[in-house]
Amino acid sequence: MKKLSLAKLYDFFAAIAAKEALYLPVNNEVGKAEYKRWSEGVELSHQLNTLRSAKDFFFPQTENLMEFKMEGKKIDIIDTREACDDFVIFGVRACDAASFDILDRVYLVDPVDSYYKNRREHGTVITHACGKPAETCFCGTFGIDAADPKGDITVWDVEDGYVFRANTEKGEKLMAATADLFEDTDDKAVKAEQDKVREILAKMPLADLTTEGVGAGLTKEVFDRPEWASLSESCLGCGTCTFVCPTCQCYDIRDFDTGHGIQRFRCWDSCMYSDFTKMSAGQPRPTQLERFRQRFMHKLVYFPDNNDGVFGCVGCGRCLSRCPISMNIVKVMKTLAKGGNK
Ligand code: SF4
Ligand code: SF4
Repeated sequence: MKKLSLAKLYDFFAAIAAKEALYLPVNNEVGKAEYKRWSEGVELSHQLNTLRSAKDFFFPQTENLMEFKMEGKKIDIIDTREACDDFVIFGVRACDAASFDILDRVYLVDPVDSYYKNRREHGTVITHACGKPAETCFCGTFGIDAADPKGDITVWDVEDGYVFRANTEKGEKLMAATADLFEDTDDKAVKAEQDKVREILAKMPLADLTTEGVGAGLTKEVFDRPEWASLSESCLGCGTCTFVCPTCQCYDIRDFDTGHGIQRFRCWDSCMYSDFTKMSAGQPRPTQLERFRQRFMHKLVYFPDNNDGVFGCVGCGRCLSRCPISMNIVKVMKTLAKGGNK
């Protein structure tokens, strides 16, 4: 493990930014943390998490896929893909870091999504262990340790600085390139910080939330639960929960006539929308109840069913604080549990 003094944090940022783009959480004009490219004078936000997740770096909200031009019956396809430059994301929390594993299970399996893969290969993730978890956090329900996040490098706040641990080859390379800023340290301060955070987590309101009643192999049982009607009754179908979610991965593909050719792009979509997956034969999920059920069945049953029991939620709590009608995955899990979750 290596230690960086408080005074050297911005030297570390400058050393990275001299070679590649560095993004970190920064407070915006309304005081919310959002990722921004670092340059001299930009200050790291000390908020727990960003408004939008770090998923945007690998799966952006919109992106061009290709262009094509048509002349009579001839179609020229123009490959607009560009090799991604290396970049570093600093300050990713344990939940968002775990969301990358979930997205990898979707986009890096055959057929591999080359756009996503390109960014994953060029991005280095520096995670920041949580010091003060929020009441909406429940990453522990899914086996994620907020005090020991994954990533290429993990950083902990300690009394007089930061302790860094490289976890991957990419992380070791970055640490080696900035080695003169660090000094050797043991894991004593990190262990004390972890004990403190785990103690806080154990007292959090959602500390006892379990996955009882959901999970792999329960499709029929959960799908047929009558409670979906009351749970979905007030859902506005606004899609906010899907857009802030680090693990939601649905998109739409459309063509846009620029006047000089056709641009094919994709953009995030939401299973909560009435036109999602609409086909010429109609909408396969015509009611909000069916759409609502789809979102939670996917995260809590279908995804673990197809991914060795891994759930499609990382307990980041964003949907808990953003839904305009205060509906969220925790309420769904508590309702579906058979007497376990209070
Ligand atoms: S469902 Fe909610 S708590 Fe779970 S990862 Fe998505 S936004 Fe976070
Ligand atoms: S659950 Fe809430 S945030 Fe999600 S679509 Fe319904 S009203 Fe919107």
